[in-house]
Amino acid sequence: MADEKRLSLNAWVDKDKKRVVFAEADSDFVDVLFSFLTIPLGTIIKLLSNNSGLGCMDNLYDSIKQLSDQHFSTEACKNMLLSPCSAAAEYSEKLKLNVYDPRELYLCKMDDCISRTRCYYSSVWQTRCYYCDKFMDEVMQWKNDGTIDAVFVKKNDTKFMITDDFHVTQSSVKECYDRLNDLDVKDINLLEEWILEFGREELLNLLKESLKTKEALTNICFPDLCIQYTSPQCNNWMEMITNKSKDNAEFEIQEMLIRLIVNITNNKVVCVEVGKEFADQLFSFLTFPLGSVLKLIGYSDSFGCMNNLYDSIHELKIKYFKSEEAKSMLISPKLAPFFGYRKQMLYMEESSPLVPSSLYGCQKCYWDNNNSPCSTVSCKHGVQQSHFIEMDPMLAKADTYMDEGFVRSDQNFLVTDDLHVTPMSLFYFLQILKRQGLHVDQLEYGEMVLERAQVYNLLEAMLVSKTALSDALSSRKWNSGIVWRL
Ligand SMILES: [Zn+2]
Repeated sequence: MADEKRLSLNAWVDKDKKRVVFAEADSDFVDVLFSFLTIPLGTIIKLLSNNSGLGCMDNLYDSIKQLSDQHFSTEACKNMLLSPCSAAAEYSEKLKLNVYDPRELYLCKMDDCISRTRCYYSSVWQTRCYYCDKFMDEVMQWKNDGTIDAVFVKKNDTKFMITDDFHVTQSSVKECYDRLNDLDVKDINLLEEWILEFGREELLNLLKESLKTKEALTNICFPDLCIQYTSPQCNNWMEMITNKSKDNAEFEIQEMLIRLIVNITNNKVVCVEVGKEFADQLFSFLTFPLGSVLKLIGYSDSFGCMNNLYDSIHELKIKYFKSEEAKSMLISPKLAPFFGYRKQMLYMEESSPLVPSSLYGCQKCYWDNNNSPCSTVSCKHGVQQSHFIEMDPMLAKADTYMDEGFVRSDQNFLVTDDLHVTPMSLFYFLQILKRQGLHVDQLEYGEMVLERAQVYNLLEAMLVSKTALSDALSSRKWNSGIVWRL
């Protein structure tokens, strides 16, 4: 694209040591960086073409893609997981550079359905029409005035210093001096100033690097270096999680039974057989915005630069932000409207749907007139005033819920340690055993009751580990929570 919007960043590079010492940016760039925290995990994986490198998340995402529609409460539920909306999407469109695609909305194609006083739309593809139950597959774009504005950070001349691992502070002598000392830079003549140009592709690359390494800017500047990120040792954070979960005991109001096959030679989970409840917990993690996950998990050393970015927002004084609301959208990002799952054991706040807008005449005339309401008292469809209401994509038909949650009830799934999910079938089960070359006498069958603490462990483990189930459930096992049936 010739007229693609671009952003630039000044970076000071130690060419001998091949690393970025620090960079300086204006509010436009910082806004873009901060907006990463508002992106739901599923959307991050989609944007990075199923190659986010986040623990087992890519496997989980791919599994949902492979599952047929019949496993989900509604067709739209699958799309909600594969392309979760962001509650901040409207704001992100004001960014100077945006990784998101422009927001779409979907209407019913039938004239009869959209020329009424109550007209429904959805933000999710394949939502069914409230009136005729057909897919709402008329694609519209939100009217966007195209202005670029301050989104999170005040737009002024303030400059921000960004370190290689995404500590963001106001540029100051002290920060600069400290950083030079920290990195043992003695001769500043050896520092070269590079101007880094970012288009959408480069920004996605930065997002990807910043999720997996603590040297995001260096990796962008020296892509051949390939700094290997060492995964955190599970033992350390397992201890922290176990301690923390004790404090949450009061929330453990719900329980789920799962059936496990464990490899007794290495004490790893081979696979688990789970029902709808567990699948809904697991799948709905994809709708969590990155910032809300960081808030939940707290002091983890994983997720590359993202923890530093999150902490920087905490530490930056409110005077740098556009408003209290802007800061809290980053620190406690909410789920998009209708994306909440009421039984999610890790509570996640959902933002409220837009207040239905109303206009003179019907929506059909409004769209036909190129986004302007009718001027006559009542439109040609006989509608004086119409209301434009966002529809719940989980609503299967009219006002009856088929099932609560994303997944249809009365079905079981098989989940491997690295979160490949398939429908339960002997075929898949035997395939898992064969693939790992496992003999029956190496296996043990057990049942386990999961509580909130394990669901919490699972969220963290799946983001950093390739053996998420083993890591998340092992503490439970050793606490004799498992009922072995041999
Ligand atoms: Zn319709």
